Amino acid sequence: MKEYELLSRIYSALDSCLKCYTPRMGKNVGQGICTLMIFVDGLGLGHSDPEVNPVFSGACPVLCELLREAAAIDAVMGVEGLPQSATGQTSLLTGVNAQAQMGRHIEGFPNRELRDIIRRENIFGKMMERGYSSTFANAYYLQAYTSAELRRRRSVTTVATEAAFGKFRSLEDMLAGRAVYQDLTREQLRRRGYEGPLIEPEEAGYHLVEIARAHDFTLFEYFQTDLAAHRGDRQALLSVLEKLDRFLGILLHMFRGSNELFLLTSDHGNLEDFGTRLHTGNPVPFAARGREASRLKAKIHSLKDVVPALLELYPPGHSIA
Ligand SMILES: [Zn+2]
Repeated sequence: MKEYELLSRIYSALDSCLKCYTPRMGKNVGQGICTLMIFVDGLGLGHSDPEVNPVFSGACPVLCELLREAAAIDAVMGVEGLPQSATGQTSLLTGVNAQAQMGRHIEGFPNRELRDIIRRENIFGKMMERGYSSTFANAYYLQAYTSAELRRRRSVTTVATEAAFGKFRSLEDMLAGRAVYQDLTREQLRRRGYEGPLIEPEEAGYHLVEIARAHDFTLFEYFQTDLAAHRGDRQALLSVLEKLDRFLGILLHMFRGSNELFLLTSDHGNLEDFGTRLHTGNPVPFAARGREASRLKAKIHSLKDVVPALLELYPPGHSIA
């Protein structure tokens, strides 16, 4: 009850905030589609029994509703074995069937061949080639990133961001509300010596909406879901889902202007089957709300369809205002 009251207060405060904020929403007002895509690692569509699938445990009502209305899309794409992150994310963010091209599902971090595909074909670069602005909203802990170990362990989004922009959103950006840390609340940064403020998932959502409204296409990556599912700790997974749900709640509440398109998808199943700590071959959700949502859901059948379908919304020859 208390939490609900707090949320309602935040929502109404944000509503009045939004009223003042709307006139300076930026370049996207009335100028084509503004897309915010949330990539949630390890989220498949599975059984509706809450014992098996924590999504139906009551911890995440907003996510539940999104999954009910989502299109179910294929993450295996004709390749034997369980889908994995390096190939799945490459397919999702480039439109190339990376698992078919590699002949197998590759886990973890992309190898040299996948990195080449990502550098050439990533959606950020493709948007910019067409004259649209795009961004990756996650904050990077750069001290760690520049260390030799992390240079070798570059994720798909890191390779794409580096190739497209040559730079990352930093902790300084994050402190100014211009980037969102991957765990939303910054708690995990404390282990790395961060002494700044922690924030609520709702505030992280507010920051993300501001970033998204200043770009034609914005991506945010959330991978605590996959990590918690691999650990097999039900309580930890439920707490991750609760946090994610509060974040999604504020995004859906705020990001619903007439030119705004909200998307949520994943690279492979995992958390929806608590009977295994491995990935699953289940379809993954492609949830869409707002401008062109139904058309996109009808067109997208697998991970590799996402980028081509999105690019159809952004015809070439645009010039960034
Ligand atoms: Zn995984």
